[in-house]
Formats: sequence, C-alpha cells, structure tokens
Amino acid sequence: MGMSMAIIGSDSIPQAPVLIVGGGISGLALGIALRRAGRAVDLVELNPTWTVYGVGIILQANGLRALQRLGLSSACIAASYPYAMSLHHEEDGRPRAARHKPSLADEGLPASCGILRPALHELLRDTALAAGVQVRLGITVSTIADQPAAAEVRFSDGSEGVYDLVVGADGLRSTVRSLCFAQAQAPRFTGQGCWRYTLPRDAQVQSALMYHGRQARVAGLVPVSQEAMYLLLLSEEPGNPRLADADLPDLLRERLRHFGGLIPAAAQHIPGPQDIVYRPLETQLVDAPWHRGRVVLAGDAAHATTPHMAQGASMALEDAVVLTDCLGGSGSLEQALQRYTARRFERCRRVVEASLQLGEWQMRPEPGSDPLALLRDVATELMKPA
Ligand SMILES: Cc1cc2nc3c(=O)[nH]c(=O)nc-3n(C[C@H](O)[C@H](O)[C@H](O)COP(=O)(O)OP(=O)(O)OC[C@H]3O[C@@H](n4cnc5c(N)ncnc54)[C@H](O)[C@@H]3O)c2cc1C
Repeated sequence: MGMSMAIIGSDSIPQAPVLIVGGGISGLALGIALRRAGRAVDLVELNPTWTVYGVGIILQANGLRALQRLGLSSACIAASYPYAMSLHHEEDGRPRAARHKPSLADEGLPASCGILRPALHELLRDTALAAGVQVRLGITVSTIADQPAAAEVRFSDGSEGVYDLVVGADGLRSTVRSLCFAQAQAPRFTGQGCWRYTLPRDAQVQSALMYHGRQARVAGLVPVSQEAMYLLLLSEEPGNPRLADADLPDLLRERLRHFGGLIPAAAQHIPGPQDIVYRPLETQLVDAPWHRGRVVLAGDAAHATTPHMAQGASMALEDAVVLTDCLGGSGSLEQALQRYTARRFERCRRVVEASLQLGEWQMRPEPGSDPLALLRDVATELMKPA
C-alpha cells in the first residue's frame, strides 16, 4: 500500500468509517474498542435475528483482561460463574488431578468464568449499540474493491459504502476471507465433535469438572451462573457424519452411558433435539499476514481453534483490543496492520496448535504425553500481555 495512506486514528485526514463484517464476539468487541477510540463504525451481521445459541462458554483470565480494557470485565463477571480450578476425573468418577488455572489476581481478575453465550452476547451487543456502532442485520458484503484511497463495498441488499478499513469478523466460514484471501485453506475437520446442553447447576459443580472416558470421550460440567451449568462432551466422530437433529438425544445418551461421577444425573436432563448443540470441531490458521490492503481478519475468521483450551473467545477479544491499539499508533495503515499480525500470530498459533495436539492425544494417546502439562504451560504463557 502507498505511503500516503492515512492511519486510522490520525486526525490529519478525514476518516471514512470502519466496516466490521460479523456481529459475534470479535466484531462486537472491536466495534466497542474502535468507538471508544473515536472511530465511526458500521457493522453488518448476516443473522437477521442476531441471536446466539443458549449454551455456555468459558472465558479465561486473559480474555477477561481484554474485556477489562473495554470496561466490561465487572459486568461480565457479575453475569457469570467465576472459578479457579479444573477437576479431572476417571471415567467412573474417581478423582484424577486438580488443575489450578493461572490467574491475573493482581489485575483484579478471576482465573476464569463460565457464562451463558446469550449473556455475553447481550452485554457486548448492548454496549456496542450504546457506544454508537451502526448495525444493519440480515445483510453481508457481496464485493470489496480494495482501492488505494478507500475500500469500496457493495452489500447483499444492493447498497454501497466507502470505508477506510474492512474487518472480516465473520467467523469460521468467513465471507470476507473467501473474497479477499484466495490462498487461505478451508477449515479442517479435526476428527472430534462437541455436544452441549444447559441444565440446572448441581450445587457440587463449583469448578469445571472433567471426566476422561473410553473412545476418546471427555465429558465436562461447567457452571455458568448460580442457577445453571452446561454439559459438554467431546467425542471422536470418524468421517464427520451428518447427524439428524431428531437422533441427537439418543446419540448423546449413548455416548454418555459409561460415565460415572455427576454425569449420570446430568444425563437425566438431556433435552429435546432443539436444545442440544452439536458441532463438528474444525480448525483454521490463516497464514500471516492477516490483511490484504484495507481488509483485515479477526477472531475465528483468522484463527479458529477447538475448545480444548477454551481460548477461542478470549483470543477474539484480544484481537479486538490489539487491532485497536495498532490502528491508534503512528505510521501508515499498512504498518499498523503489519503490527497487528506481528502481535497476534504466534500467540494464536500456539493456542490453535496446542488445542489440536490435545485433541490428537485424546484420539491417539501417545506414551509419555502429558496433556495437563501442555494445558498448564500454554495457559501460563497467555497470562503475558497480548
Ligand atoms: C464446540 C465449541 C465450543 C467452544 N467453546 C469455547 C469456550 O468454552 N471458550 C472459548 O473461548 N471459545 C470457545 N469456542 C470458540 C468460540 O466460540 C469462538 O472462538 C468465538 O465465538 C469466535 O468469535 P468470532 O466473533 O470470531 O466468531 P463468531 O462467534 O462465529 O461470530 C461470527 C459472527 O459473524 C456472523 N456472520 C457469519 N458470516 C457472516 C457474513 N458473511 N456476513 C455478516 N455476518 C456474518 C455470524 O452470524 C456471527 O454473528 C468454542 C467453539 C466451539 C465450536
């Protein structure tokens, strides 16, 4: 890109808005951060109802630190269930190991929390709207013409816009990525699927409880509020079968049947198909750099990971804070976007690769491997500032 380009945040040249494509965790967090930095922000979200499914998500201390930068950590923690340990068990429920999660207690943050996805979404959505992010629902980008002076965008409803920067925060199947990053490989199925549903919290569930079962299955119970917790099950799903919705309750019941501990009681609450969220696990790491001209990727669009480290959302939140920092610095837009990839790539690569390794070890155990040590080491590294 030419050296004459205005950097976002510079006040020397009038700035066109930033366009964020995707109103999920990364898009909303970025919208809030950019508005706080004084930028005009348009956001388009494909889902006309802008809803998210009703199960939980785990945020780690580093993700809470990113929310703290947005002024949202207290509200998030108040809506969540903070906890400090993962308690690991054998399939039959006997304790195996307790893992103390690294924390940022000196920054006033718990080690982690479980929160319902709709609660996190509402917090980010309401804050973004109140901050002045201009949102349009039910549309996406059709074309992006990346010109030296601006990105010219045509939307799926036929409208058009001119932007300083277009951010693809549109998740694993990013349209922005497919429009502008022709060389990026498609997301890859890892061999496992993840099952989740929400149920009333058992008073004994005050941390994440994990049960390591046969056939590479790992079941977990995670508190998300005083009242609720969610069950998650990771299972090997050879060939990535298409599972009919109507079959989900029975398939899940079958996959949970050998587990002991608190799992049989939780399995009594298996809901109807509409309330079971099943996802094949897919992964993706776009090669550096994560920008082409005036188009940049954030969140799952750039780096989609499996839930083994429960870091996807925390990485998305960090992207938003770091991208905003980089855009507020000196130099050209090109330099700012280079700094963004430079600060994010290795950290995200570490999470994606460690998560894949943990899944691999579940499916194909290797003598001498130590999954809890890998989890601990990477989680500890992530306590360093992003
Ligand atoms: C089974 C499973 C469990 C997980 N558990 C955890 C966990 O415990 N902790 C954790 O940190 N992470 C977890 N993750 C990962 C986490 O969900 C993601 O990393 C996170 O949601 C990424 O946020 P995002 O905003 O980049 O993408 P998304 O949350 O996918 O948001 C993308 C948004 O873009 C919209 N969109 C899509 N296409 C378009 C388009 N063409 N135009 C406009 N809008 C579009 C979508 O509707 C959506 O609103 C898990 C993931 C899976 C699959």
